[in-house]
Amino acid sequence: MERVKGIDTIKEDITISPPKEIAINFGIMEKWQRAQSLLAPRWIAIIPYCVKCKTPLTWVMKDERVLFECPKCGVVWVKENGWDKKLEKELAKLEEKNGICTTTS
Ligand SMILES: [Zn+2]
Repeated sequence: MERVKGIDTIKEDITISPPKEIAINFGIMEKWQRAQSLLAPRWIAIIPYCVKCKTPLTWVMKDERVLFECPKCGVVWVKENGWDKKLEKELAKLEEKNGICTTTS
């Protein structure tokens, strides 16, 4: 048996620096949140780390663009273009599923 610290499973390539800003697709976040909700009842948390710095990211709440930032290297993760449209679509689907109609037409 071999035990490896979770932080050491981060595979980094120190020869490559990340861009200062990284766009995140809405679908990726949705899948990530789904995985979180499946693992949380099993006492496992999924916390985003900066691969370069191996540091937990800071969550940026109530911002129109930024999702996370690395407190060490300053890289920010932002919502990809079209994020709001996809969010609206998902909310509409959810409302439809729950029988709530909020369309104003
Ligand atoms: Zn970093």
